[in-house]
Amino acid sequence: MSHIFTTGIGTGTKTKPYKVTRDWITSKVISGLEGLPLYSEPATTHRASMFSVCPRQSVIRTRESYTSHQTASSTMYTSIGNVIHDLIQTSLFRSGLLLWKEYKAEMTVGNTKFTGSCDAIIIDPITYDLSVIDIKTTGAIPSKPKVSYQKQIAFYGLLLGIRSMNILYVSRNVGMPEPKIKNFTVDESYIEEVALDMAVTACLQVNELPNRLKTKSSCTYCPLISRCWNDVMIYEPKSLTESTVRNSELVSQRILDTMKTRRKKTIHKILKYSNNNIDLLEKHYSIILNK
Ligand code: SF4
Repeated sequence: MSHIFTTGIGTGTKTKPYKVTRDWITSKVISGLEGLPLYSEPATTHRASMFSVCPRQSVIRTRESYTSHQTASSTMYTSIGNVIHDLIQTSLFRSGLLLWKEYKAEMTVGNTKFTGSCDAIIIDPITYDLSVIDIKTTGAIPSKPKVSYQKQIAFYGLLLGIRSMNILYVSRNVGMPEPKIKNFTVDESYIEEVALDMAVTACLQVNELPNRLKTKSSCTYCPLISRCWNDVMIYEPKSLTESTVRNSELVSQRILDTMKTRRKKTIHKILKYSNNNIDLLEKHYSIILNK
């Protein structure tokens, strides 16, 4: 008997072959990549990634429970992004620039807590400049970084007391002979913007919400879009009062005034817990501290 396997479903004496493409395998794989709906209690902190996109969304997240859902595409983008992050961090280490990867930082203003984790802190071995690095994976590399990305890295800069900030865009379309990677330096003025956003959030009175983004078209990916623009909340939302705006300006200056102390704290933490390049930090401590 010959060992030829026939793929098919038998119906009586006739055999129907499966479709060669087997579409059902594709659909099973896609549904397997989709995450289960995730129900979360209200957030307890404002995380850099969401806060930098929209402080109002971040505040609503701290007041209400929500359900999120990961699509098959977002699962894949996240996984690809994680691999690229690891590669770039390893490369920064091999190049002798890395001081710390995945640095977790936090700041509490009044009763409001802000947290974030930056991809890397590096040191220039010639000038001893410290710099915060955020890695972004993308398709085509844009001509300039998104404003929300610039605010996100400014958030880290503020928390760490480091004014030099760089966004490394890395294309997923690798590119030959060199991968497509572009560095953008972020203007320090974003630090002041973020400090004011934090101050407004910390000074909010009952039911007040930060302003909406300037245009609804910027809200395309926000799951709260219809509720937010129609004021449908579980409470009666209020706009910012004049006293909140006034208090915020004072508080934002106080936040900025903590930057020198924060820089010192960051350097001490690196000296205590990191093994990467700390000889440079130790040797040139006072220069690096006062830059
Ligand atoms: S809809 Fe727009 S303004 Fe409202 S919370 Fe979402 S991103 Fe912010």
